[in-house]
Amino acid sequence: MLKHAQHPAPTDAAARRAKPAIVCYTVDKLPAFDQSFYETARQSMTKIDEVVVAPRDASSFKVPAGHFFRILSTEGPQVGDLNLWNQHDLNERFFSGKTRQLHATHVSTGDRLWSNLPGLRPMATITRDTLDWYGWDEDGGGIHDVIGTRCDPYTNYMLNEVNYHHCCHSNLTRALADSQGTETAAIESHVHDVLNVFMCTGFTKDTHQYFMKASPVRPGDYIEFFAEIDLLGALSTCPGGDCGSSHSDDSTPCYPLIVEIYKPADEALADWKPWPKNGYDGTHGL
Ligand SMILES: [Zn+2]
Repeated sequence: MLKHAQHPAPTDAAARRAKPAIVCYTVDKLPAFDQSFYETARQSMTKIDEVVVAPRDASSFKVPAGHFFRILSTEGPQVGDLNLWNQHDLNERFFSGKTRQLHATHVSTGDRLWSNLPGLRPMATITRDTLDWYGWDEDGGGIHDVIGTRCDPYTNYMLNEVNYHHCCHSNLTRALADSQGTETAAIESHVHDVLNVFMCTGFTKDTHQYFMKASPVRPGDYIEFFAEIDLLGALSTCPGGDCGSSHSDDSTPCYPLIVEIYKPADEALADWKPWPKNGYDGTHGL
């Protein structure tokens, strides 16, 4: 029963509810995940850079197309909020909502992170996820969601009437401004809905509300991506820490996260090319 429902069910309610659920998109037509290509490439890769993201803060990083990057847990359980942009055009960025529609509420190995319209192409492919054993728990929770948007100071002010400056939205805004050598006000609108790395979330069974529970991530765990285009990334260490209690405050233990960049051997990419933009003609019927 919905909280404010006012209308009695019609006599054929059961029949209307009994219609089959069908997956919205013909996702079997998506470009296949070529596991042997990525596995071969990653076996030849060497680490070329590393960025440490301090607790309750964010850092930016660049990943050339054809390189891998890993987000690595260190010191303690910590959730990360990830933004991705086309390194050469900030208007092309990660599209959390379409990624959710094409894959699922939570993503893992073989899933892609898609860019917004009109580009709509894979920005990155997930190639390894040490938390893939978790699957779905008794509460319906899973790991690495593309449901939640990011903690932000505006929602926090609306609900709690305090100015808190280390929400993921603010952390990402500062990191992006720093990477572009500009002011936060000029760049804030480029910060977008995130991939919630390592976060354990779902919807409550009775009211379908978004919930979080303590992340099962432990030091040494990582999620690994292959950059399908030249990427600019920013990663925030959420002030919620493992997101097992609260967020948008300084009360939870928080830990650093590490972003590692890896370069595969040139021969592993001999037949590979960065992903082209979407092929729709863009005329919208005119
Ligand atoms: Zn956050």
